[in-house]
Amino acid sequence: MTTHPTDRDSAIACLHAGLPAPERETPFGVPPVFASTYHLQGDPSGAVFPYGRDANPTWIALEEALGALEGGEAVLFPSGMAAAAAALTSLLQSGDRVLLPQDGYHAVRYYAESFLARFGVVVDKRPTRGLEDSDLRGYRLVWVETPCNPGLDLCDIAAVAEKVHRAGGLLVCDNTTMTPLGQRCLDLGADLVVASDTKAVNGHSDLLMGHVAARDPALLAGLRKWRKLSGSIVGPMEAWLCHRGLQTLELRFERMCRSAQAVAERFAGHSKLEALRYPGLPDDPGHALAKRQMARFGSLVSLTFSDQERALDFEARLGLIFKATSFGGTHSSIDWRYRWDDTAHPGLLRLSLGCEPTEALLDDLEQAFGGL
Ligand SMILES: *Cc1c(COP(=O)(O)O)cnc(C)c1O
Repeated sequence: MTTHPTDRDSAIACLHAGLPAPERETPFGVPPVFASTYHLQGDPSGAVFPYGRDANPTWIALEEALGALEGGEAVLFPSGMAAAAAALTSLLQSGDRVLLPQDGYHAVRYYAESFLARFGVVVDKRPTRGLEDSDLRGYRLVWVETPCNPGLDLCDIAAVAEKVHRAGGLLVCDNTTMTPLGQRCLDLGADLVVASDTKAVNGHSDLLMGHVAARDPALLAGLRKWRKLSGSIVGPMEAWLCHRGLQTLELRFERMCRSAQAVAERFAGHSKLEALRYPGLPDDPGHALAKRQMARFGSLVSLTFSDQERALDFEARLGLIFKATSFGGTHSSIDWRYRWDDTAHPGLLRLSLGCEPTEALLDDLEQAFGGL
């Protein structure tokens, strides 16, 4: 695997970015600042903190950290979907065409089809795999999610960016499954990165959070204006907790990806499975591309059984691994995706490897397979 050029800087950024300068007898971090209102008299132009809907010191600390990790500037939103809605809604207008992954996170498609279509935005969908080889002309915005959730197919971000830009469009990359430690979408040519920090970035399954990152000041200004006027803002306590979670992202993600690789290697080709997908397997269709554009292979493995009954029987036999939706947390979990998204294979389970000892996870999966 190619070494991520900024691996070490990113690991340090998780711990140090966004912290105030070390001053004697002050805390390391920015504590949660609970304020709707700030002292402010006269002309407010140039004020960083005019009102609680504009800015908050606790958000800014986390935004600085996420911006350092993304290689751009980050704008926080109260969930991944709030971040996705901000990117889509602040950029698109009536008559625009948007291209979404048909195998990506289902709520992004539902949002676009339920709300944007009503305002005259044309919504098209295509599969993630091979997107770089398709005709991408005519789109104001192309949205990719790679590896896509839950199928774990990949597309070539740099190649898609090149085509989209040549046609005058913008590229948005939902990087939730990889985090900026696993993939730096802005470096690969994306104009915007959208992420649900509810997943591995916060990592403790106790809050929702999201961000959009970009480099272009006009795009960033549009996102901040959307946040202020739509009121889609983050609570200071959540921002503080998420920043606390971020400190250990590198440590957690390392273990999670290592366990995912071990699980994939142990169970690929298992007689009770139809398919197992993990970009870290040398014969996975996405492997060569993953080696080029990702710094790690991720913490998700998709297991496909012949049908729904088999999948649910397998799930029910797991002991250590929780049955729950969402992923990226310290606790390993598994989710039967068909219950949320009827475009998923009915026998597909998305397995999220957490921080438990790898051997214990392998044992739990082994005994569940053994019982089938
Ligand atoms: C979870 C998820 C989202 C939505 O994030 P929330 O924080 O749940 O709103 C968006 N994209 C992907 C790929 C996700 O996995």
